[in-house]
Order: sequence, then structure tokens, then C-alpha cells
Amino acid sequence: MSEGCNCSSGDCSGKECGASPEDLKLKKTLGRIRHKIVVLSGKGGVGKSTVAVNIAVALALAGKKVGLLDVDVHGPSIPRLLSLGDMRPHIGKDVIEPIPWGKNLWVMSLGFMIPNKTDAVIWRGPVKMGLIKQFVQDVAWGDLDFLVVDCPPGTGDEPLSALQILGQDARAIIVTTPQGVAIDDVRRSVTFCRQVGNPVLGVIENMSGFACPACGAVHDIFSSGGGEDLAREMGVAFLGRIPMDPEVVRSGDEGFPLLNVDHDSATAKAMNAIVKPLLSLAGSLQEKAADQPKVEETLAKGGTIRFAVPVAGGKLCAHFGHCEKFAILDVDAGSKKIISARLETPPPHEPGVLPKWIAEQGVNLVLAGGMGARAQSLFTEQGVRVIVGAPSDDPDKVVEQYLAGDLVTGENICDH
Ligand code: ADP
Repeated sequence: MSEGCNCSSGDCSGKECGASPEDLKLKKTLGRIRHKIVVLSGKGGVGKSTVAVNIAVALALAGKKVGLLDVDVHGPSIPRLLSLGDMRPHIGKDVIEPIPWGKNLWVMSLGFMIPNKTDAVIWRGPVKMGLIKQFVQDVAWGDLDFLVVDCPPGTGDEPLSALQILGQDARAIIVTTPQGVAIDDVRRSVTFCRQVGNPVLGVIENMSGFACPACGAVHDIFSSGGGEDLAREMGVAFLGRIPMDPEVVRSGDEGFPLLNVDHDSATAKAMNAIVKPLLSLAGSLQEKAADQPKVEETLAKGGTIRFAVPVAGGKLCAHFGHCEKFAILDVDAGSKKIISARLETPPPHEPGVLPKWIAEQGVNLVLAGGMGARAQSLFTEQGVRVIVGAPSDDPDKVVEQYLAGDLVTGENICDH
């Protein structure tokens, strides 16, 4: 199979499916990266780059192979934060070598390309987009456990193209500060991710409380907790809060990541606590998907396959999130016959609830009419396969059509 090919046979090298050589290269590069983490913020100055650097360093120190990509065209600060400001990457014919930092971390930044630190570079729109794409596809990232991407702030064209280039399995971490204005920006960032169909890993509240250099305790000098409230309100995870700490400023100014030298302060502990779920997520995602027997394997080997079909008025419901019930049908893979069917009422609809509930029902395959990209990626995380565009027919007929290889799928009519 030709990596990156879009066609169903997977081996036309773009001749039939129309994938360009760049598309193929991009897909090949992305195919070697297990987890893509995009660090976003509603506005600049909230500590997005500081958080991106420390997450990348913590993952690398934990033994993961990590890429750190700085596409913050307005102020690429990663080289400075890692004392790599004077480095220039080697640019070969078709490939750019990332700059190594320590044993497990490789860095690429627009900052490496700017001749003079004080130069203001005016990047025109299409150039910016092209650069972001080039930095993903042309950099020799190799096999990575994580690619951490420091995105430009806001919800404009640049974070949008970064997400589009990285694909819908790229997960966003949104950095905010506790103040109300920043919180409004985060609300926009979460909505933005939902609109483009990328899952949000969670929200980090930075500069939350003050880590006193004299006593080491964290004092709540201003308000805090806004990020947590907002995460709850928007149905996304709250990953933790990092205090305002003069050591963070010093480490940034002097170009060493705090987590490389400090593991005991309240700030270092807070940062490490945020990285922990990322590390376990890396394992659990892989394991969950691997745990589930592949539908085709079961069909070939025999066994039982459990299907779920969203239903309204007795027929497959075209709008996944609006269904009344789910038909759960067990199929004997050997005879390809439905051996049992029942209707289950799902829990009240809230973002992220249905994929988890369906996985808990032991379902292997969902046949749906329309489903948003975000829900689809949540199912993938749970190891449940999804086929969209199935017709609004009786659930058993839809399953029988699938088993007979006759299921004709149309448009995903509900892709939000
Ligand atoms: P952004 O990428 O959002 O523009 P930066 O990471 O460049 O933000 O951080 C902006 C400034 O805030 C830097 O001077 C940085 O050292 C400082 N900073 C970031 N996080 C903290 C923190 N937790 N405590 C103190 N200063 C911080």
C-alpha cells in the first residue's frame, strides 16, 4: 500500500485518487507521528509558548520521542526559550533537519529562519499557510510519539490552517489566564476547535495564583478558577492550573525550560501534573484501539460483532446526536446472521458522552447517517469503528446490507 494514498485500493500513488506529491508526503510524515498536540490560546501573552515548551520537555524527559514545532508567525519564541536562538537548521534538497535538544526532543521554528532577531518579518497570508505546511511535511521528524505545535494565538487563519494540515486527530490544549477577558477568548477557541472538528484535550489555567519565592506556597492574589469553571461549562477537561512564578520568567529569559531543572517547586509539580494525563492518554488510546478486535478480522475468523444504529421513529436517524434510541444488534460472524437485537436509551446528549456510552455497550461498529468529525474521532479513540452516510432504513436492514456488502453510503449529511 502506498502511504498517503487517498483511494480505497490504497496503492495508486495518487494517479487515480488525485493526491498530489505534497499530499502524499504530508500524509506519510503525519503517519509516523502518533499524537499531535496543538497548543492554542485565545490571545497572546498568556504563556502558550512557555506551556508548549515545558510540555514537550516533560514528555521528552519521560522517554517519549517528541517534536516541537513553533508556527507562531507573530513571535516565534521557542528558539529563545530553549537557548537555540543562534541555531540554523540544515536544509537539504527536499528536507529540513530539525534542531535536536537533549536526547528525545527535536525542534523546528520559524524563528530559525529569521536572519536577525530584531527583524520584523511580514508574512503574507498564503506564505504563512505554505510555511506551516512545509514545516510539517518537509521537516525530517521521523517516528515521533508526540508532535507539540505552538500555534499563533487567536482563532484566525493560521491556527485554522495548522489544524487543517495536521488533520482531525490533532488534539488541542487551550491555555488561558484566569481573568474574564481571557476566558471569553477561550470560549471562542473551544467553539473554533469544535467547528473544525478537532477534539479539545483540555484547558490549562496559567498564571493562576502566585508562587511565593520566599515560602514556596501558592497564594491566590487575584481571582482563579475561571478556566476550570469554563471547562466544565463547555464540557471539556480541565488539565490544571500553573501559578505565576518569577522562576518561569527567569527560565524563559535565560533559555532553560523550568522542568529541566526543577521538579519540586509548586510550579514544576503543577506542570508535571498536567503532562501526566498526556502520558497515560498515549498509552490508553493505543491500548483501547488495540484491545478491540477489528471488525474485518472477526468477520473472517468467526465470533460475534456488535453493531449500534441510532434510531428515531423506528428508522436509522440521520442526525446522530438527535436519536431517541440505539438499536444494538449482535451478529454471528460465521453465518452473518443477526442473532439478537434490542433497543437501548442513551444518556442525555452532551458532548463526548455517546462515544463513551456506546463503547461501554461493547459495540464494535456504528452505522450512522450523519455524524460530526469530532464525534467520529472520539469513537476512534474508544476503538469503535464508524460508517457514516447509511440510509434511513430499518436498523436490521441496514446491518444486513452491510453484511452482504450492499450498503450504499451517501453524504455525511450532519457533519457538525
Ligand atoms: P504566549 O506564547 O502566550 O505569547 P509566553 O509563553 O511567551 O506567552 O509568555 C509571555 C510571558 O509570560 C513571558 O515573559 C513568560 O516568561 C511569562 N510567563 C508565562 N507563564 C508564566 C507563569 N506561570 N509565571 C510567570 N510568568 C509567566
